[in-house]
Amino acid sequence: MNLHYPFTLMPLPYPYEGLSPQLDARTLYLHHDKHHNAYVQKLNQLLAPYPTLHRWPLERLIAQPSLLPQPVRRQIPWQAGGVYTHNLYWHCLAPQGRPLPPGDFSQAIARAFGSLSGLWEEVQKLAAGPIASGWVWLVCDRQGALHLAATQNQDTPPLHRVCPLMAVDLWEHAYYLDYQNRRADYLAQIFPLMDWQRIASHYRYGLQWAAIPQPQDRPPSPRR
Ligand code: MN
Repeated sequence: MNLHYPFTLMPLPYPYEGLSPQLDARTLYLHHDKHHNAYVQKLNQLLAPYPTLHRWPLERLIAQPSLLPQPVRRQIPWQAGGVYTHNLYWHCLAPQGRPLPPGDFSQAIARAFGSLSGLWEEVQKLAAGPIASGWVWLVCDRQGALHLAATQNQDTPPLHRVCPLMAVDLWEHAYYLDYQNRRADYLAQIFPLMDWQRIASHYRYGLQWAAIPQPQDRPPSPRR
């Protein structure tokens, strides 16, 4: 997968029927090949006229909107966010799920939420809040502590402050065919599909990211 323009659609890491019966093959096909792919294609269309942006990774396109050309300053982060969020979402799921490995991540979960089911109860509470279309996230901060966050639309948490480890799609297209409007049922059913080994590997990456000294945040100078 390209890390910059032209972006390509990440292959689904399992077959369309890999998450059934909780999420059926038609949901995965439409969600990946249609919704996710549309973000990739629209992002490439928006970037095409701007060669100076062709080496920018997704994170930068999302996190530095003030450096983007004014006509596309709102649209590029939206579409780049759609690509980023779905790339992470697919990797957080696995056929039959994969259990939480012992180690740093498991201990961080115990500290923050007591247990995995404690974490998921908090996910359910956040998802029951006023999010029409959006995401619930598990992130780690620069101290390696875990937090949950909810965002609207294709927004991500602030990528210069936290490292996303897990993203759960709350848009209706993620679950409507299987659960109609029953978001809580969708979340309860996918809990056993979560790939905690993969999410633990994101935490190891997050700890490396947290160890890199960061330059002082300075106000970006708008490009004109
Ligand atoms: Mn989606």
